[in-house]
Amino acid sequence: RLQQMVHGTTLEINLNSLTHNYNFFKKLISPQTKVMIMVKAFAYGGGAVEIANLVQTMGADYLGVAFSDEGIALRKQGITLPIMVLNPMMESFALCSEYDLEPVVFSLEFFQNLATWCSTHQKQMKIHLDLDTGMHRLGFEPKHISALNLLIAENPQLEIASIYTHLVGADEQVHREFTLHQLHTFERMKDQILGNLSYRPLIHALNSAGIVAFPEWQFDMVRMGIGLYGVDLTGNYNSNLRTISTLKTTVSQVKEIKAGETVGYSRMGKLEAGGKIATLAIGYADGYDRRFGNGKGYVLIHGQKAPLVGNVCMDMCMVDVTGLDVKTGDVAVIYGEKIPLIELAKLIGTIPYELHTNISTRVKRVYY
Ligand code: PLP
Repeated sequence: RLQQMVHGTTLEINLNSLTHNYNFFKKLISPQTKVMIMVKAFAYGGGAVEIANLVQTMGADYLGVAFSDEGIALRKQGITLPIMVLNPMMESFALCSEYDLEPVVFSLEFFQNLATWCSTHQKQMKIHLDLDTGMHRLGFEPKHISALNLLIAENPQLEIASIYTHLVGADEQVHREFTLHQLHTFERMKDQILGNLSYRPLIHALNSAGIVAFPEWQFDMVRMGIGLYGVDLTGNYNSNLRTISTLKTTVSQVKEIKAGETVGYSRMGKLEAGGKIATLAIGYADGYDRRFGNGKGYVLIHGQKAPLVGNVCMDMCMVDVTGLDVKTGDVAVIYGEKIPLIELAKLIGTIPYELHTNISTRVKRVYY
């Protein structure tokens, strides 16, 4: 049905499964709680415009991107939902204003610069305040809150649309105490800001794992990312979620290898007793991690495991198909329902986010 006609590799995205996952998470929160869908990084590799379009029709309330250009691309494709920009550059204020993007403000200096830009240009802007409760990435710390309150009071041209924090380990049982510490700190900090405001911004803290593990802290909105893409990092709900993406490639050639011969760069691939290898049309330039090489990873061909032989090349890789009935043009599944991303990520000591966001743009996305 969805053949790899031109490039050899496709990323199939099942939008029905995405809808299923969205509805699953919606059931865990109250009907009043709003949902922000994180579509940064090309919607975690799945295609920002297509996924933004879908969640817009499903009734999501907000979109989250990392940089202003990601938001601009969505606006140019007709996305009308409010868009929060996590890490806007100070040089992009004019573009944020022009494309109706809502920047996150994370420092006093940033606040002051944006406020000055808005008064100089006679603009009003909605902003989001990032509170640092332990991530120590971006955000206001408790010691900044009084100065922040003064700036808010002096600059009504900046309207606080929301106040949020980000959890460092909501998916990890070992960090449960720390997560609760973060949430309590957040509660105190946001109250100090709300106490000085005459209006009520949205309050939010939970990511996907947080929705599962700390639903009582959902406040006014949750920010859903990886869960929508079918991964539950807490490990408790995976069976309720559906895999949305399947990465497939094709066999370009099958070769017999004799004992003592080697496969690929640096002569790393060896089949002790000789055997058969299949060359696949996917390499690290497609986002197939080089760490899968030399037996660390495997693919499925006709449902059977074929381990990687030798180093992954830029556009190709080789797998051991000794004893399997494999021919040119056969489909190899890199990941999907039978090879969950979460398991694959473990094989090379990384996280599903990295694998999914790394699928390069030259890999065609196919939606069904
Ligand atoms: N909120 C913020 C600020 C994020 O940076 C992210 C993702 O990195 C998310 C929410 C979504 O997290 P998850 O994909 O774990 O649901």
